[in-house]
Amino acid sequence: MQQLAIFGGTFDPIHWGHLLIAETALHQIPLEKVIWTPSRNPPHKTAALFEHRVAMLQIATRENSAFTVSQIEAKRRGSSYAIDTLIDLSACYPNTYWHWIVGLDTFQTLPRWYRGQELAQMCNWLIAPRILGGETIAQSELICKQVTQQLQKQSVTIHWQLLHTPLVGISSSLIRQFYREGKSIRYLVPEEVRSYITVHDLYTR
Ligand code: ATP
Repeated sequence: MQQLAIFGGTFDPIHWGHLLIAETALHQIPLEKVIWTPSRNPPHKTAALFEHRVAMLQIATRENSAFTVSQIEAKRRGSSYAIDTLIDLSACYPNTYWHWIVGLDTFQTLPRWYRGQELAQMCNWLIAPRILGGETIAQSELICKQVTQQLQKQSVTIHWQLLHTPLVGISSSLIRQFYREGKSIRYLVPEEVRSYITVHDLYTR
């Protein structure tokens, strides 16, 4: 059975933090592939056009043959829900043990996701520690255990592990803010992604 991971997100834009997490997951498990799956219509967020976000993902991941960008959400009209993505991808990749890559901040919200209880049991969660309020790795683990307990109270058992990555304080919102303020975004995103953002002037407004 092959081991694949879905890395879902808005990726507005993709940054070095995302790439480091995916690379760590690839080797830590190890995985055959990381399938980057940008949300077309992320719930609770407005984002740059799906086509721009896909283009930046393709540019940033093309050197790594174990990275694939999925456009499975391209035809989706309503909100993008993770469970639909997993069901659709399972049809494309049969005989797969699924992992799902998330940052700690996102994982904390899992009990509130649409059909989150069902989804939680359908894959192994690979959680990237993230600086939220200055958490250490030990605190990250504690937060993950709290989420697990919360789900256990609802009779949901999940499998998860922390990714062994250095903490990276980069976020897409920080990059958009820097760009809007005319600050440099060099070294926060791959150089070709930076050029793409500049050419298309993605984040001025
Ligand atoms: P925004 O700042 O716009 O909210 P983001 O940087 O969190 O964006 P997303 O595309 O929303 O980027 O993230 C996709 C996934 O990657 C989420 O699960 C998020 O928690 C995780 N992630 C993003 N950046 C980091 C980081 N620096 N460290 C750990 N996890 C991260």
